[in-house]
Formats: sequence, C-alpha cells, structure tokens
Amino acid sequence: MDTRKLITIAGRANRTIDSALQAFLEELNALVARASARTLARLQRKLELGADDRLQGTAGNAATLRLAGRIFQSEMERAGYPELVDAFVGSFGRLFPFFEETLEALGLEAVKFSREDREALAGQQANLAEAIRGVVRSVAEAAKRRAAFSVGGTPIAELTELLAVEYGKTAAQAGGLADTAITTFYRAIQDRGFQRIEEANGAAVRYRYYGPDDVLTRPFCDELLERTARRGLTRAEIDRLDNGQLPNVFLTGGGYRCRHTWVLDTRAEEQPQAWPSEFPGGFAVVGEIDVPAGVLEAFGVEPQARELALTEERSGHIMSDRHRELQTLGSFVLEAAMRPDEVYRNRKDPQVGIFLKRMSDRRWMRVVVRWRQPGEDASYRSSILSARVGKEQERAVSRRVWVR
Ligand SMILES: [Zn+2]
Repeated sequence: MDTRKLITIAGRANRTIDSALQAFLEELNALVARASARTLARLQRKLELGADDRLQGTAGNAATLRLAGRIFQSEMERAGYPELVDAFVGSFGRLFPFFEETLEALGLEAVKFSREDREALAGQQANLAEAIRGVVRSVAEAAKRRAAFSVGGTPIAELTELLAVEYGKTAAQAGGLADTAITTFYRAIQDRGFQRIEEANGAAVRYRYYGPDDVLTRPFCDELLERTARRGLTRAEIDRLDNGQLPNVFLTGGGYRCRHTWVLDTRAEEQPQAWPSEFPGGFAVVGEIDVPAGVLEAFGVEPQARELALTEERSGHIMSDRHRELQTLGSFVLEAAMRPDEVYRNRKDPQVGIFLKRMSDRRWMRVVVRWRQPGEDASYRSSILSARVGKEQERAVSRRVWVR
C-alpha cells in the first residue's frame, strides 16, 4: 500500500473541498449582505418613527417587527440562496474521482455503485442541502425574537444595527454547516464504496484514519491517527466511537469541520509474521531486508547481507521482562527490521544499522541490525541485535542514510 500516494490524494480532495467552500462562502457573504440591506430598507419604510428617529409604540410597529424574520427569509430567497445551496451541494459529485483514485492506490478494483447506492447518496445530498437552507429559518427566528424586545422609544439606528448583526450570522452558520456537509458527503461515498468491498470480501475489513496531522488537529482525531497507524479499526469498533459532537464517526470523523477520513486498511489482509518460537542451531532466519541497494552500499556490505536472522540469545533479550512493551509487538519488530521507513548509522559501530518504522505521530519502532560483513563465513547472516520503542526526537537526522 502506497501511504504517501494516499496522503497526496487526501490532500487534493481536501483542496477541492476547500475551494468549493471558498466559492460558496464568497457568494454567500455577498448574498446575505444584499438580503439584509433590502430587509432593513423594507422594515424602515413600514415603521412609524417619532421626530427623534425613535420607534413609536404603536400596534402597527409591533406588527411590522413581527415580520423581521419573514421578510429576511423572503429576501434571502429572492437573492438566490436556495439556488446557491443547490449548486454547492450539486458540486459534491466532483469528489467521486478521489475515491476512485484511492481505490487505485490501494490496489483495489473499481467499485460499481448500484442504483440503490446512487439514490442513497442523492438522498443524503438532499438532506444536507435542506439542513444548510434551514439556517436562514433559524436566523430569521432569532432576529424576530430580538426585534420583539424593541419597543417604543428604541432609536431606529439601534434596531437596524441589532438586526444586521442577527442576519449576518447566516454566513457563519451556513458556512460551518456547508463545511461539515461536504466532508460528510465525501465520507459517505467512501462508506458506500468500502461497504461493497466488505461484502465482496465476506469478512470484516479494517479502516485507517487519514488526513492532516498538525497543531490544529483535535485530540480525538490525533488519537485516532495514532491508534490506526499500526492497525486499522473495524466498522463495529468505529461505530462505538464518540466524537462528542455529531453521531456516526465513520461519516462525521471528529465532528464539525473535521478533514479526516477513513480509508480501507489493506495492511490488515497481510498476515503479520510471528516472532520465531524455534531456534534450531541457536538462530532462526526471519526473511529479507527490503531496502534499496544504495543502503547496502552505504554500509559497505554485499547483497547477501539482506538475509536476516535472529539468534535465540537476542530473542530472549528482546522479549525479556526489561523490554515488556515489546512482548506484544514481535511482528512489528520483524516488520521494522525487514521493511523499515528510515535507516540510520550508529554513532560508534559502523557494522550496525538502526532501522526505524513509524508507529504513530510520536513513536517509532527502533531496531538495531548488525549487517553481515564482507568476507564473513557464508553461513553468517545479518541479525537483529535489539529493539525498542523510540520517540520522535530521537531521530538523529545527521546520521540518516535513507528514507523510504
Ligand atoms: Zn479530524
């Protein structure tokens, strides 16, 4: 599985989402400003003011203030809000190709969406559009409530200021909802597609959490990125998660404005290699070190040095009580020794390489491998000397030989 490719696709999907949102927000802001100005003008024409530009406490004014919500709603419609929302939601279809690319990067066949799938997604699109349109109704309601407290004697400037602030909330609220809606829809495409794969497999598959990993990442997402870095979660496990904001973590991720998505974890289908239990002659051959030839050259060793062994004595050392944290991570130690993400030199011993494989954002599996030296007996192999879990800041970049 090409992790970097998946991250690139996720990045491009996110940029498409961002630009769709940006366009929506720009038009939305202009539209709200227009509708707000027209509403205020209509209200002012109807209101009876005293000589000092204050509201008069008449029954007619009270009735006009009750319209502060309804007029705004009709002006938003006239300004083209429903069409803007439809166009925005209609553009969600542009996200399908990213899902197709994701499947390709995962080495999976394209998914044929059934008519039922398409209808279900269209239904969800309609619901999301409805929710975004509904923002105007709730803003209008809130404006009407505020206006109800403006009684006789309120300066008209104060009233229009107050209403303009209320109407202006449409942009922020609809924008936030639009943001959540488009990412939710992208996850819904993935959800449907991966479910088809799950059915075809006839077995529970696992999912890995993908997306930005920076200071803005909330703890819920941060923890999931870390938790799924080594092994994905099943749908049942994901369904038990709670982001504290929105239901259905598969579709809503970390909640409002979250940019993370679930991607099928194809690693789960590869059987992890078990830690050797038998050491005939004192050692076990575990496999081959999969790094480019340039890495071997950098250490001055021959192609035979790829063959990797583990001695009974070192196995005992690595799995000793002192290294308790490794007792359940045997397969990952082997994985790091054979398919490291990065290779370093040791400060003192030129015969050993330090192999790192990422476990999470902050932790690395760190395996010390002694290379088979040129001219050594033909029966000798490279071998694992020790292993432990290391922290991010321990990576000595100056001694780095290779990065995957
Ligand atoms: Zn997130």
